[in-house]
Amino acid sequence: MTRPTPVTPIDAPAGEVVDQLGGTLVDVDAALRRRLADVCAEVTDDPGERAEAGRDWWPLAIGWASRGRVPARPAVVARPTDTAQVAAVLAACNEAGVPVTPAGGRSGVCGASVPLHGGVALDCCGLAGVSDVDTVSLVADVRAGTFGPDLEAELRGASGVTLGHWPQSMDLSTVGGWLACRGAGQYSNRYGKIEDMVIGLEAVLADGTVVHTGGRGPRSATGPDLTQLFVGSEGTLGVITEGRFRVHPVPAGGGRRAFGFASFADGLEACRRILRRGATPAVLRLYDGTESGRSFELPDTNVLIVLDEADPVLVTATLRVVDEECAGAARLDDGLVERWLGHRNDVSALAPLWRNGVVVDTVEVSARWAALPGLYRSVVDTLGGLEGTLAASSHQSHAYTDGACLYFTFAGRPPESADDATGAWAEAYYVAAWDAVTGAVDAAGGAISHHHGIGLNRGRFLPGTLGDAFAVLGAVKAALDPKGILNPGKLGLTSAFGPAPWPAGGGGR
Ligand SMILES: Cc1cc2nc3c(=O)[nH]c(=O)nc-3n(C[C@H](O)[C@H](O)[C@H](O)COP(=O)(O)OP(=O)(O)OC[C@H]3O[C@@H](n4cnc5c(N)ncnc54)[C@H](O)[C@@H]3O)c2cc1C
Repeated sequence: MTRPTPVTPIDAPAGEVVDQLGGTLVDVDAALRRRLADVCAEVTDDPGERAEAGRDWWPLAIGWASRGRVPARPAVVARPTDTAQVAAVLAACNEAGVPVTPAGGRSGVCGASVPLHGGVALDCCGLAGVSDVDTVSLVADVRAGTFGPDLEAELRGASGVTLGHWPQSMDLSTVGGWLACRGAGQYSNRYGKIEDMVIGLEAVLADGTVVHTGGRGPRSATGPDLTQLFVGSEGTLGVITEGRFRVHPVPAGGGRRAFGFASFADGLEACRRILRRGATPAVLRLYDGTESGRSFELPDTNVLIVLDEADPVLVTATLRVVDEECAGAARLDDGLVERWLGHRNDVSALAPLWRNGVVVDTVEVSARWAALPGLYRSVVDTLGGLEGTLAASSHQSHAYTDGACLYFTFAGRPPESADDATGAWAEAYYVAAWDAVTGAVDAAGGAISHHHGIGLNRGRFLPGTLGDAFAVLGAVKAALDPKGILNPGKLGLTSAFGPAPWPAGGGGR
């Protein structure tokens, strides 16, 4: 079984780890422990396992780990290996009123899989493997705990097909996590986001009922799309145990291009025109000057890299559109694409930066093309105006006919005079930066997340950004999970176990 990859060591012996977030933590009593052990392949209260299950890749928690802290630990970790075990665990916890927080690779960056109110951490990684591939119809059934590399190896090796989902966290994350967060792979322009790939699900509701949605035939008109109800629900509405996906023959053709634009806005305009002509190169990534300097040592231009893979006829046509729409830009060495391929999943700098006192995170949002140039400017300027900001930059990473995803990176360090031994400055700066970016995105009418999701970090923003539709989400939650046991404290939903213990004071917005 592939296991989660921790972002950084926790600087304390397992028995001395402290919970950073001071919310209500629910215990699992001896009777429930015995019952769980009877129905589930593995149940453990080992201190090291509980500590690891108490965090994900939320960058703020890296600073806490260096002080021997994790966000919040579960009482036990349960590791089911099939759907029946998931159902039995949920039924038992629902009867007892004990929270259950599903987790996959724990690569989420918003604290979504942190068991905020203790109880049971449900590690879904044991539900692994491809259970069926229909190579005639190009449909595959995949268990939720399958990690990215294992999935592609199985699909390609046995059937010559690919899902085409390549998140930067490919090695770190699972199919269930991709679905639960509405994830996006780096080749999304050709293959779509995960919500475009999935056509059906098996999920277990809070009371242990197993349900199957969709998947019987393409584009059915059989009532609302219940599959999409669970996609993006971040473990709050049900535990996804299996997904049914559209897959593709491993592509025979490919091509690459690189260009340099005088301004980020000029590059955005070229991307917009490429998409509106119907060309969908798998990768179309535009970096502003700061990131062009950081990634390609070309700070005086705005680098666009283009990579396509598909039937060779389609690739030729696609790159012809790209060449025509980028005619006004400087043609750069296609080797830049190779360079990106070489470092695209390398995040080894993240933990050392935090450990050296630099607060760093990324914020991915989306908006219409008409709003994007202004949104880019306002977010970078707003971040730049915060005391302590060292850098604020962006790239465009996923493009559509109606708009695109902008992926911002910010970094800050306490002013010389500030003593941040407790991490208080880091946390205050972090909250202020997120408040500032989200405020700018809301003001521009954009979506506050494109693919990382909401989790804990963005929970305070969801009621405002969903507006009158937030009550619908609350009603669905109440109907499917009346005791509120599934991943309480996330998505900004009211929790039966007490208020979300972060951020202190509720943030600035
Ligand atoms: C370095 C790095 C790069 C990243 N790059 C990308 C990227 O390119 N694209 C992208 O989309 N994301 C990216 N992410 C974010 C993260 O990898 C994704 O959100 C991913 O989908 C999470 O999958 P996971 O298996 O790790 O889920 P976890 O982090 O374990 O869980 C995430 C959420 O999903 C829920 N969940 C997990 N499994 C299930 C299940 N079986 N049923 C119900 N709910 C479940 C959890 O409760 C939680 O709410 C990146 C993260 C890192 C650290």
